[in-house]
Amino acid sequence: MHDLIIVGGGPAGVAGGVYACRKRLDTVLITEAFGGQSIESFGIENWVGTVKISGPDLAKSLEAHLRAYQSDCLKIVSPDRAVQAETIDGGFRVTTKDGTSFEAKALLIASGAHRRKLDVPGAAEFDNKGLTYCASCDGPLFADMDVVVIGGGNAGFETAAQLLAYCKSVTLLTHGSDYRADPVTVEKVLAHPKMTGIKNAEILAVKGDGFVTGLSYKDKESGETKELSVNGIFVEIGLIPNTEFVKDLVELDTVGRVIVDPKNQKTKTSFVWAAGDCTNELYHQNNIAAGDAVKALEDIYMELRAR
Ligand SMILES: Cc1cc2nc3c(=O)[nH]c(=O)nc-3n(C[C@H](O)[C@H](O)[C@H](O)COP(=O)(O)OP(=O)(O)OC[C@H]3O[C@@H](n4cnc5c(N)ncnc54)[C@H](O)[C@@H]3O)c2cc1C
Repeated sequence: MHDLIIVGGGPAGVAGGVYACRKRLDTVLITEAFGGQSIESFGIENWVGTVKISGPDLAKSLEAHLRAYQSDCLKIVSPDRAVQAETIDGGFRVTTKDGTSFEAKALLIASGAHRRKLDVPGAAEFDNKGLTYCASCDGPLFADMDVVVIGGGNAGFETAAQLLAYCKSVTLLTHGSDYRADPVTVEKVLAHPKMTGIKNAEILAVKGDGFVTGLSYKDKESGETKELSVNGIFVEIGLIPNTEFVKDLVELDTVGRVIVDPKNQKTKTSFVWAAGDCTNELYHQNNIAAGDAVKALEDIYMELRAR
């Protein structure tokens, strides 16, 4: 039986792996791929210590950092996918898609999430050509431009609040008859002179010519089709956690995220920790995911040593 199994090869999983090796924990890291969600990004400008790095280069550097520690104490299982995690006597068993099983005394879930994609004509064509899923990453590219945010939850309103700092105008569209975000945030954001909110909007298509030029939507109240001319479209219609394989092992919230104690990333199941975008952490960033995993490893080490 190993000391620790880590599932995930994004910033959280790799940070966990590096710390586990430095602490000489006998570790298995299972991941489908290295790099995580921002592998899609052209330029990441907030990975602390690096002025600018592309998503694919970040993935390479994360993998290289982890492999630098590969030794008797680290086994990397990649590409493979964890399909089930269960409790066994004295620990946990994780089974992968190719049918292999690994056993360990502790488990770190760092399997991240994937963004719900906008599924209308033009959305895939203009992805990364004016349509984006990350305001913290791409927002400044749209300074002094007219932009739209799609999504009326907290993520949509937080995105709008960020964009208001430098965009010419921000229009938030939601398909619902009301916003799902906290009323205080809604009130504050909508009060901004550059902000417009539109409810009951069913997005019909993303328009463009090489780059986004606008979108069309149906006003569900009047039935009318309307057009908006914008240079940027920020989509915040939900993040889907990759937690299917642990749904019978740990407590998940209503949207499937692993519930953790933010002090130490512990779940309510003994000897199971989780870090990064698969958790009910409020903010989703590479640095936060890595930091969460570091916190978890400090705690895992102390708990395993005390066992
Ligand atoms: C387009 C885009 C651009 C972004 N740009 C930035 C940016 O510029 N700066 C920033 O700070 N943040 C950015 N983010 C957010 C950032 O990418 C995430 O917050 C961060 O990747 C979360 O890291 P994580 O390790 O928790 O999860 P993830 O990055 O989601 O990584 C999860 C890993 O687990 C693997 N995995 C998933 N399920 C399984 C399984 N069952 N078995 C085995 N492996 C599995 C995946 O292959 C992946 O390697 C961006 C997000 C997107 C979508």
